[in-house]
Amino acid sequence: MEIKAAQQLKGLMKQHFMELDEASRTKNKKIAWCSSVGPAELAMSLGFLVYYPENHAAMLGSTRTAMDYIPVANANGYSPEICSYLTSDIGAYLRHETPLTKAYGIKEVPRPDVLLYNTNQCRDVGDWARFYGREFNVPVLGINTPHTQNEAREHVVKSVSQQLRDIVPDLEKVAGRRFDIDEFRAVLARSRECSVLWDKVLDTGSHQPTPLTFFDECIHMGPAVVMRGRQEANDYYKALLAEMQERVAQGVAAVPGERFRFYWEGMPIWGKLRNMSELFARLKAPVVVSTYCNSWIFPAFDPANPFDSMAEAYCSIFIGQDDAWKENYIAEKVKRFAIDGILFHDARTCASNSNNRYGMSKRLSDKLGIPHLVINGDLNDLRCFSEEQTVTNIEAFVEQIEESHRENIRRH
Ligand code: SF4
Repeated sequence: MEIKAAQQLKGLMKQHFMELDEASRTKNKKIAWCSSVGPAELAMSLGFLVYYPENHAAMLGSTRTAMDYIPVANANGYSPEICSYLTSDIGAYLRHETPLTKAYGIKEVPRPDVLLYNTNQCRDVGDWARFYGREFNVPVLGINTPHTQNEAREHVVKSVSQQLRDIVPDLEKVAGRRFDIDEFRAVLARSRECSVLWDKVLDTGSHQPTPLTFFDECIHMGPAVVMRGRQEANDYYKALLAEMQERVAQGVAAVPGERFRFYWEGMPIWGKLRNMSELFARLKAPVVVSTYCNSWIFPAFDPANPFDSMAEAYCSIFIGQDDAWKENYIAEKVKRFAIDGILFHDARTCASNSNNRYGMSKRLSDKLGIPHLVINGDLNDLRCFSEEQTVTNIEAFVEQIEESHRENIRRH
């Protein structure tokens, strides 16, 4: 069933890109390109419009044009084994093409005045930003955050907080205006509200039957990624939350006849979202929660203490923690969302966000007593994904769960 707020979402995403396009053409505003969990709020407080290459790359994935561009980046020295967001985005740039043309009539991606990144998610975002820094001859400002920093949290947060402070003078130079801490507090307060609302939307998936699925969430997370910090995003999530709460109150199911409930761990397969969504709907087994869509929830933001709290929030993202932390996180979600099985997407070109590779999938199955399935694929490079094989594996997985439920009923 169509989510009504989807119309509003379309308008909002269009507004985001049209504003960026106008700023790029008329120079009426400065533009910062930023990694998805980079210091966007800081840039916004200095008047920058923020553009997210990862969001653009996801568009390349969902429009299935990524495979046309990945070889272009490969031919320019970027390995087929590294992030296919990076390779498809750089390839599209080198070909002077963008899905924004077909979607919004926008000729080219907006030109950056500065590039920002945070290695809290992976090293690739830094290499990606430096490529464009060279191309556009603009400053590249990075925040360096180590991974698995659950073990050294306090020092890391302190260092990141200082790094955030340190980039302010460079950002001021590009912005041509002074940093105002009250502006920063205001953006952070709006960003926090966005994150709280998005969290509530996602939590409606804990109801049985779920009013929305992971595949819906991948679409509706757009404003939390690209417009957090702006009032429009908050207004949007209030509307979406009201709609989901209404569905819960009326018992409206995203997947009628819901039988089993899954957790999706890892990146989406952007070019196959619809197919995957239809497959799980046919099996009456919705994916009701994921790590990925929960990645844009930043409860630590505190406008009273903006630099430290932003550092804390951006150091706390799932992808940067150690396996013990991640396993506890997933275990809590499994319980809250009444999960019957965990799907681990092993994304070929994203080692940082493929969590099955060091034994976590088996450890969690043993600990929680629920089965898991590893899906081999990729976020953007569909050459790494066999749909036929995956469908067979998922069907067999659902049968296995069905059989074990029957067995349990027989025993009791
Ligand atoms: S986390 Fe993975 S998908 Fe995201 S930018 Fe890094 S390598 Fe690419």
